[in-house]
Amino acid sequence: MDSVKLIEVIRAIGSRIEEEKDFLTELDNVIGDGDHGINMARGFRAVEEKLEGLEDKDIGTILKTAGMALVSTVGGASGPLYGTAFMKAAMVMAGKTQIDMDGFLSCMDEAIGGVKMRGKAQQGEKTMLDAMIPAQDAMRQASSHGAEVKAVFEAGLKAAREGVEYTKTIIATKGRASYVGERSIGHQDPGATSFTDILETIAQNV
Ligand code: ADP
Ligand code: MG
Repeated sequence: MDSVKLIEVIRAIGSRIEEEKDFLTELDNVIGDGDHGINMARGFRAVEEKLEGLEDKDIGTILKTAGMALVSTVGGASGPLYGTAFMKAAMVMAGKTQIDMDGFLSCMDEAIGGVKMRGKAQQGEKTMLDAMIPAQDAMRQASSHGAEVKAVFEAGLKAAREGVEYTKTIIATKGRASYVGERSIGHQDPGATSFTDILETIAQNV
């Protein structure tokens, strides 16, 4: 994938988030403060504006620009978290004009590391990490077994969806959802859901 295609994919993520905005907000209404869809949509609109004219830039610059736009325009926790994820991924792609599956997996490693660090969170706390980490593990495994790109994304997507289901069964211990304690059980995490939407959009566009 080159820079032109990457920008196309990021724009597609923006459209998907816009479509899912009300649903994500509804999910956040139940266990948080009802703004996840609004936050994500605002963030990705800013990203789209900032990506204007960056088609001739390297992958790292594009990811960094997207990350900075997310951090600076989203008030909620998800902006700095997704923003950090993009900015960390940008570092491994600095100066690169192509991204392949190995590159994508390295980006995911960095993104997960960034979210863990910034959110002081781990797997099992009912956050976006509960979709990101299983997806990454499944993709790495599929890739190491020589699966085609589409199949690698399919494996990741399946694991991410299972991760979202898993978030229904656990209590939130990080973020606003932790305030509702036991009442968070039975409800899926908005951030794990938005990550799965993002991964699905990437899978549909590679
Ligand atoms: P806020 O919680 O500030 O209102 P959002 O509603 O946009 O922000 O995002 C909420 C999502 O962010 C949660 O569903 C969860 O996935 C993720 N999240 C919140 N806090 C953390 C954290 N400390 N670490 C990782 N992810 C987190
Ligand atoms: Mg919220």
